[in-house]
Amino acid sequence: MEDTWSVEIWGVRGAAPAAYRDFLEYGGNTSCISVDCCGETVIFDAGTGLLELGRRLRKKGIRRVHILLSHLHMDHICGLYGFPLFLDAAAEIHLYGRAEEGRLKERLGALLGRPYWPYDATAFSARVEVHEILPESVFHIKRGKEGDKAELAVRTLAGNHPGGSLLYRLEEGERSIVYGLDCETDGRMSAALQAFARDGKLLIWDANFTDENLGRCAGWGHSSWRQGMELGRAAGAGLVLMTHYSREYTDCFLRGQQELAEREDDICRFAKEGMVIRI
Ligand SMILES: [Zn+2]
Ligand SMILES: [Zn+2]
Repeated sequence: MEDTWSVEIWGVRGAAPAAYRDFLEYGGNTSCISVDCCGETVIFDAGTGLLELGRRLRKKGIRRVHILLSHLHMDHICGLYGFPLFLDAAAEIHLYGRAEEGRLKERLGALLGRPYWPYDATAFSARVEVHEILPESVFHIKRGKEGDKAELAVRTLAGNHPGGSLLYRLEEGERSIVYGLDCETDGRMSAALQAFARDGKLLIWDANFTDENLGRCAGWGHSSWRQGMELGRAAGAGLVLMTHYSREYTDCFLRGQQELAEREDDICRFAKEGMVIRI
């Protein structure tokens, strides 16, 4: 097994940023998590957290990134506006997302161009490749070569979310991370999720609502930390990292939820911007 994977949190909010004083302990940016693994930089979602990550990557001289988009809802892509690496001629950016009837590139291109942004995506200096991914499929970010056994594969699962979402399982040998955001779990989804997250070292979970709030938000396509904890236990996950918090949940409220969750099971972690987890 290669060196430790480093997982870093850059954005923890769902729906929209919450850049207010009472939200900054956990963080106000929308979803973005990076993973340094096998010499590659893999990024889950491109929420506003991507902008600070982009600055950091530029400083470190990292120019090749793989961005895995769960779906095209704005909170998961708005960090693409102004992502510094787009303007770096030496950068290589791979964008992966759910195949939108073969129109992912076109849809991203439309969103990243006029009239929503001052210049078109075609003006990017970087080499940008868009990869259309199907649910229940496998693709490779890195294939093992002779003398370098590390093979970085990604499996996918269709999420239960309005308009659809894609869940990812990043794996190298025995080591894996499951990214399960924007997914409402129910009886139908539960068995598929358990199989998908089986024995994962880290399950990153959509803890958008508390159980109490879930009732009035059925059909919105989100879940709770308790559902994540139960899924993690059933799947034999090493850790469950809660994130994608409602933008109405203040630091004080989240602290209370974190205490409850950790008291129930030390498998639970609550994401905060700047947090690093090594697996
Ligand atoms: Zn979202
Ligand atoms: Zn969504």
